[in-house]
Amino acid sequence: MTSPATGAAGLPDYAPIPQSAFGPALNEQGYYVGRVERNLYWVTDGVYQAAFLTTDDGVVLFDAPPSIGGNLQRAVDEIAAANGVSNRVTHLVYSHHHADHGSAASLFDGDVTRIGHEETKRLLLRDDDPARPLPEVTFADRYTLEVGGERVELAWHGPNHTPDNIYIHFPDHDTLMFIDVVNAGWVPIYNLNLSEDVIGYMGAPAIALSYPWTHLISGHLGRLATRDDVAVHQQYIADIDASAQEALASVDPVPYYVAGGANVWAGVKGHLDAVTERAAAPIIAKYTGVLAAADIEAFTVTTTFQIMQSYRLDRGHSGPVHP
Ligand SMILES: [Zn+2]
Repeated sequence: MTSPATGAAGLPDYAPIPQSAFGPALNEQGYYVGRVERNLYWVTDGVYQAAFLTTDDGVVLFDAPPSIGGNLQRAVDEIAAANGVSNRVTHLVYSHHHADHGSAASLFDGDVTRIGHEETKRLLLRDDDPARPLPEVTFADRYTLEVGGERVELAWHGPNHTPDNIYIHFPDHDTLMFIDVVNAGWVPIYNLNLSEDVIGYMGAPAIALSYPWTHLISGHLGRLATRDDVAVHQQYIADIDASAQEALASVDPVPYYVAGGANVWAGVKGHLDAVTERAAAPIIAKYTGVLAAADIEAFTVTTTFQIMQSYRLDRGHSGPVHP
């Protein structure tokens, strides 16, 4: 693969970001808040996303990314003032335990009821971060949250990005919130968006699509996602999967192990790097200009490596059994 030329600030001259990857402009405080449907709103700082529901009994906040931080309450205040409803956050739902989506939770203390998956609670106990107080309400598979006449369906369908990442469905708002799997208009960052369960991550978009919704709050970047965004993401991952299988089958490992000699790990590196590069190159070429940042090679390369390893380790294609 060729490296792009170096441009300003030492960054390579990457391909232009497609206009479709951007969302609305931020205000002077650095956030945008917009209506999703009726009394469901989303907030972004251009990189992270959260959501909130205004009700007669108070506000339900979904995630609290620290990068949005104090702008969460500012966004709530702005919408509550415009609509003459309460701006008091009474409930906070954790999508998953990660700090980058939850560690502004401690800004909402007092009478707030926090809700999360039971594994979220276990992981937050483990991580012992005062910025992410434990959920008081937990569930294993499903939980219906009812506040002020509004209904939200929380569900856990197995591990994906993390062991605890849940699906948050707003059946009366035509919306799904599902974080850190699909990035609307952009490729996943390193290692399938820093995901722990490759098979779970690869299967999650189909589960997301099995819900009825028009708007997806995906947790990242500057706009809401559509069902088409999920389909493009699925195709990107499916293309990587097919390319990794092709490369595994066609790259001869023998020369790498011969060259490595007694240093077996050197042989492993040579072989797996060659497979990964061969598999990733056509994906980077195909998606540059389609998904933003597809030409940041490290993202597609590390995601390809993870999927290729999962093909060997999870799906059992690691080679013949010694006779
Ligand atoms: Zn995460």
